[in-house]
Formats: sequence, structure tokens, C-alpha cells
Amino acid sequence: MTPSTLPPQGVRRALIVGSGISGLAAALTLHRAGWQPLIIERAPRRRTGGYFVRFNGAGYSAAERLGLLDSLPDRRDPEGRMFEADSSGRLTPGLAMPQQLNGTPMRMLLRSDLERALYEAVQDLVEIRYDTGPAAVTQDRDKVTVTLTDGSVESADLLIGADGIHSTVRSLAFGPEDLYRKDFDHVVAACVMDAPLPGIRDGDSVIATAPGRSAWINSYRDHPPVAFLLYRTPWPAAEIRKQPATALRQAFAGFGGKVVPAMLDAMDRSESVLFDQVSQIHLNRWSQGRVVLLGDSAWCMTLHSGQGSGTGIAGAELLTRLLAEEDSLSAALGSWEQRLRPLVTRHQKEALRMRHFFMPANRFGYHARRGLIRAISTPVGAKLAQAIRT
Ligand SMILES: Cc1cc2nc3c(=O)[nH]c(=O)nc-3n(C[C@H](O)[C@H](O)[C@H](O)COP(=O)(O)OP(=O)(O)OC[C@H]3O[C@@H](n4cnc5c(N)ncnc54)[C@H](O)[C@@H]3O)c2cc1C
Repeated sequence: MTPSTLPPQGVRRALIVGSGISGLAAALTLHRAGWQPLIIERAPRRRTGGYFVRFNGAGYSAAERLGLLDSLPDRRDPEGRMFEADSSGRLTPGLAMPQQLNGTPMRMLLRSDLERALYEAVQDLVEIRYDTGPAAVTQDRDKVTVTLTDGSVESADLLIGADGIHSTVRSLAFGPEDLYRKDFDHVVAACVMDAPLPGIRDGDSVIATAPGRSAWINSYRDHPPVAFLLYRTPWPAAEIRKQPATALRQAFAGFGGKVVPAMLDAMDRSESVLFDQVSQIHLNRWSQGRVVLLGDSAWCMTLHSGQGSGTGIAGAELLTRLLAEEDSLSAALGSWEQRLRPLVTRHQKEALRMRHFFMPANRFGYHARRGLIRAISTPVGAKLAQAIRT
């Protein structure tokens, strides 16, 4: 069975699972193209939280075309300084975030900035049904039918699984997550700081590293700093079953100074700590008939790529464009995948390389990283690095 027909513009219906960045971007672009999207979200209400996003490249260009950039001001503090720290807490000058990356200007945002910009663009146009999700999916030549966990049944011309790395749509239509998930030997933890950091000025950011561990504190305009910790472990799946506070204190034992201990204290107090293993998703195909995956559910790249949100938005925009241009659904989905896959593959590979910058794996990596930062901090090194990045 190869479903290929779509009804005329104006009566096309899309069921989108997930109201994250990818799902909201799909709803916005499809609505503008004359579709009737319905979003299904498992959370009981809007998910407004989240962490830092370096926003550049294909996602930045798509946001510009969609008219979203005015709602996404750069949160960098122009007076803010960047520091590196060692495990004794000694601070040395660090690298400023570049102004340009991947061929576009770069903005530092919070995930909530992107969520708000997209949500406000769709809230009066698209229904979002909370507290429910897909329980079963069937499809035939003419439609895809989804039975929801609340017992209701919805039919559509297209089902978009934008339900994140642990996607239920993927499990229902493509098979169990284990087939597609590739784990890094990393665990990540993040929370919003509830108190100022001792020893650094408002607006300053610090990256503290040791072999197999790194702790980042990122500062923003009009928002408390965000703490983010990464460490290496051979058994990440077992590690994330521990209490975050206990696991983090074990992993970062021996870090001196004021910054990392203050971050650990904040993690202890926070009621909303992200604590997860770091994994990518690799599928040979992102669609099956009338079901297509988008964003982290299809190609999670990990935070190391810095491109997950942006590629979700760019992927949604391109999908909508090709659905309008191509003669059939299968042609649109095939063409979408063919055009998007090189970008996704590049960023997934880049994430593999960048994980060594985010967290040096061992003593050699630690010293290589510090040497690289010292080299890039010279005027010639900075120019060279800028030329490579843009
Ligand atoms: C610490 C950190 C730093 C990052 N830094 C960057 C960065 O600098 N730049 C960047 O571009 N990206 C970054 N990312 C990645 C980026 O945040 C993600 O790639 C992006 O948010 C993924 O969006 P998504 O909409 O595809 O998935 P998600 O944000 O995971 O959204 C999925 C949605 O689906 C819902 N859902 C899940 N299951 C179901 C179900 N069964 N039924 C209904 N709804 C369901 C969820 O509740 C959620 O709302 C970072 C990520 C992390 C963790």
C-alpha cells in the first residue's frame, strides 16, 4: 500500500503529536498553507520551560522567512564575560560566543523564547488538545486514523510525530526505540538557577571542565542563569535511574571553587531538573505511508550539535512547502527527506565531534581543549576560527 493522494488545499487535515518547537512550527506552516492542523500534547498544559538554545543556520533562516525573528531577541548580555575554570575553581578568560555561525547571525535564546514565539503565532488558529496522546495508529489509502489515550478517535490526511526523542508515534509506526537510539556515554543535567552565583558578576558565564566532566553556567538578559552539567559514564541508562542529586554529587566530587558547588546546591533545590542520557536517533526513513516523523523524534542530534530546535523549524517549513509543490503525498515526503537528510547527517556528525569540546573525554582531551581555547583566544586564532565557522 502506497498512499499518495491528498484532498484539495483547504480541507487537508494534519494530526500533529507534540507541541514542542517542531510540532508548533509544523502547525504554523501548515495552517498558513491552508491545512487544518490539530495538535495533540501529552502534558496537561503548555510546556514553557527549557534551557539555552544557540540559534543560527537553517533554523534562523526559516524563522526569518516565517517572520518570527522580531519575537526572538538575542539574550546575550553585551557586558557579560566568558570564563573557563579548572577543577580547583581557578578562572581564566574563555571564548566569547560567535556572532555568526553556520552561515547566519547567531542569537542566544532560551527554549521558552522559541516556544512562546511559535505558540503565540498559532494559539488563535490551531486547536491544541492537552493531556492525551496516541494509543494506536492505522492507515489505509485515504487516511490515517489515530486512537487517543482518552478514547477518542481522529482521522487525518497526515500524521506528524513531533513527540521528541522518546516518540510514541515512532514506536507505534516504526518499531521500538531501541532499534533507532544510539547512546553517547554521557549524562546531562540542567536547571534554572534560583540564586545568584557566588564569585562571578551578573551576566558572566563559566565553563568548568575536568577529564570526563564539565559544568556550564550560561547567563541571559532578563532571566536567571541556566546551569548545565555533563559527565561521562559507561552505563548512562543505569546512571539516570539514580537520584539526580546523588549521582551529580558523586560525579562532580572534588570540584573546588564556588561555582560548581553552587550549581550542585541549585540542582538539589530545583523541582525541575533535566536528568537524562544523551542519545541520537537514526532511522533509514522518516515516513511510513501517511505517518512522518519530525524533529527529535526523527533525528535527535543531541545538544552537542546546537541545531535541534532550528532543524525542527526548518524541517517543518520545508515539509509544508513540498506538500504544496509536489503532486502526491509520497512524492512530497520522498523529496523532503532527500533534501533534508544531508543537513541532518552533517549536524549529527558534527555533534559527535563537538561532544569533545563540550566535555573532554580524558586527560589528553582536557589539555587539547585548553590548548585550543588558548590558541583561538589570540587575534590570529580568532580570525581563523571565525573563517572556519562561517
Ligand atoms: C540542555 C540542552 C541544550 C540544547 N541546546 C540546543 C541549542 O543550543 N540549539 C538547538 O537548536 N537545540 C538545542 N537543544 C535541542 C533542542 O532543545 C531540541 O532538539 C528541540 O527542543 C526538540 O524539539 P521537538 O519539538 O522535536 O521535541 P520536544 O521538545 O521533545 O517536544 C516533544 C513534545 O511532544 C510531547 N510528547 C511526547 N510524547 C508524547 C505523546 N505520547 N503524546 C503527545 N505528546 C507527546 C512532549 O510533551 C513535548 O511537548 C538542546 C537540548 C538540551 C536538552
